Amino acid sequence: MQAKILRIQQVYNDLKIFTIEPQKVFKHKAGQYLMVFAQGYEPRPYSIASAPNDDNTIELHIRAYGGLSSFLCDTLNEGDMIDIEGPLGSCTYKAQCKKPILALAGGTGLAPMKAIIEKALSTKRDNPVYLYHGAKDKDQLYLNNTLTQWAQDDPRLVYRPVVSHTQDSDIPYGFLNEHIAQDFESLKDVRCYMSGPPEMLASLRDLVLEKKIDEKRIHFD
Ligand SMILES: Cc1cc2nc3c(=O)[nH]c(=O)nc-3n(C[C@H](O)[C@H](O)[C@H](O)COP(=O)(O)OP(=O)(O)OC[C@H]3O[C@@H](n4cnc5c(N)ncnc54)[C@H](O)[C@@H]3O)c2cc1C
Repeated sequence: MQAKILRIQQVYNDLKIFTIEPQKVFKHKAGQYLMVFAQGYEPRPYSIASAPNDDNTIELHIRAYGGLSSFLCDTLNEGDMIDIEGPLGSCTYKAQCKKPILALAGGTGLAPMKAIIEKALSTKRDNPVYLYHGAKDKDQLYLNNTLTQWAQDDPRLVYRPVVSHTQDSDIPYGFLNEHIAQDFESLKDVRCYMSGPPEMLASLRDLVLEKKIDEKRIHFD
């Protein structure tokens, strides 16, 4: 179906947040993604960064890498139309589970984790929601201010940004694995959602399994 680009925000050098409005009712679950199509480019998946809402709008976080993503970031304007298909993906928020949530994001892997925590925090639940966002430097923690504010406003959200390349800021330094390994003795009673580069997901999966999580409670696409 077609979707109209309502808003484009430049949040970092090569990263933009698009708000789009599908031209038909689009029903997704928090954590899913959609495919974007454009003539002359390979179709690519992009995660939906917003929880389902009543106004039928969708937020996408797109980093320009060279192919379709650069076409979208460099040439599209507000008011333009794009072709999308979806929703797709099984890394969806499990509403019936009230266990603590561990949401792990690398780079724009923050997008589906944002949708999941938005949905989780909008429901009645007492257990904490831990969100770890790993990036190279502080600028790439592109929602740092927003998420810091959310955590101040809602004590159930524990937000842990981590930078891996530049050690000159107030943000904890290192890789997500190291921080999670230190912060949790056991993950036996936790549900874990994760999104990011495949190598990162593989090593995070090993870590949470080492920490005794039930494999059925690990979700990623
Ligand atoms: C389930 C899923 C969800 C995704 N969600 C998002 C999202 O929310 N936002 C987003 O920006 N992307 C997301 N991606 C990645 C996205 O689908 C594309 O792979 C990415 O935009 C690059 O595609 P391209 O056609 O622009 O570049 P390509 O033509 O595929 O690649 C151009 C060059 O960049 C390199 N490259 C491509 N991707 C990366 C990368 N991640 N890191 C380093 N180098 C890279 C390639 O090796 C190549 O050299 C997601 C991928 C999956 C599988």
